[in-house]
Amino acid sequence: MKILANDGIDASGKSLLENAGFKVDTVKIPQDQLAAGIQAGGYEVVLVRSATKITASIIDACPGIRMLGRAGVGMDNIDIKHAESRGIKVFNTPAASSQSVAELVLAHLFSGVRFLQDSNHRMRHDGTTAFNELKKHYSAGSELQGKTLGIIGFGRIGQALARMAIGMGMKVLASDPFLDEVELLMTFSQDGSSHKMRIMTIPMKELLMNSDFVSLHVPGKVNGKAVLGEEELRIMKRGSGIVNAARGGVIDEDALLEALNSGQLAFVGLDVFENEPSPRADILTHPRISVSPHIGASTAEAQERIAAELAQTIIAFYANK
Ligand code: NAD
Repeated sequence: MKILANDGIDASGKSLLENAGFKVDTVKIPQDQLAAGIQAGGYEVVLVRSATKITASIIDACPGIRMLGRAGVGMDNIDIKHAESRGIKVFNTPAASSQSVAELVLAHLFSGVRFLQDSNHRMRHDGTTAFNELKKHYSAGSELQGKTLGIIGFGRIGQALARMAIGMGMKVLASDPFLDEVELLMTFSQDGSSHKMRIMTIPMKELLMNSDFVSLHVPGKVNGKAVLGEEELRIMKRGSGIVNAARGGVIDEDALLEALNSGQLAFVGLDVFENEPSPRADILTHPRISVSPHIGASTAEAQERIAAELAQTIIAFYANK
């Protein structure tokens, strides 16, 4: 049985599959040759990350496909409905990268409150000639401890972020129309102890008005609209910060730039963009926006967990056939 991992797979997962008797190919087939490549290769399982798109026409052209796997969370690049209507099992690895994404959010927050995205850039150019001037320029930072973090979308990543933020002495507010309350299990690796903490969700408006920083962890736009637009940004605390590591488009980028330039927002951290893979230049070059190229799940640990979960799902599926 042959598997095509068209956007790659961590070596650990590949070995698990090969040891179970599967053949795994990781040579990337370009999007426009995908249907022909899958057919010619005789692949029954196709695995993708976010780059490869599995459209209805590819599914129809490849009747041999039995499983489609997405290494990660969002499934917007697979036509799930169409695949399932053809009896194909579609699966993903929803929990494997939550901690990695949450840690990247904290990295953007730490960067924003100490201006690291800009000071890294300017120190490289002017650090030897204008050290004291730059020192003065970046001297009005603030701490995260004691501040309030508003988390919009309180699922797996939102909760992973809440655990760390609370551990750092932040206060957490959460908003999620599908959850009234969540019991967070905090485990402390220092002594192995654990503590359960109940968090009640609140309306988004209340969260926006009371948070020093806001991080988005929703699945996507709501009815084709950004979750944070001009109106929502206006009610936030003046001088607050925002991080988006969810999906491009859940913040209106025009409104975001306007809020930054007017001083309504102090800084923004973005891992995702409306126009990926070509984000707009005024976002990428803004001195108060910390940017990363959609790398939330791109850690060794997350990729190993993702690959293991993919391998286990495939092995279990074929064991039951
Ligand atoms: P999840 O399904 O566990 O949680 C999403 C939560 O959002 C759910 O609890 C849901 O009830 C809530 N929600 C839905 N609509 C909402 C709304 N309008 N307002 C507030 N809450 C709402 O998903 P997750 O694993 O936590 O992932 C969250 C997001 O992170 C997804 O968009 C995913 O694509 C993205 N993600 C990004 C990266 C990256 O590399 N940056 C990696 C993985 C996931």
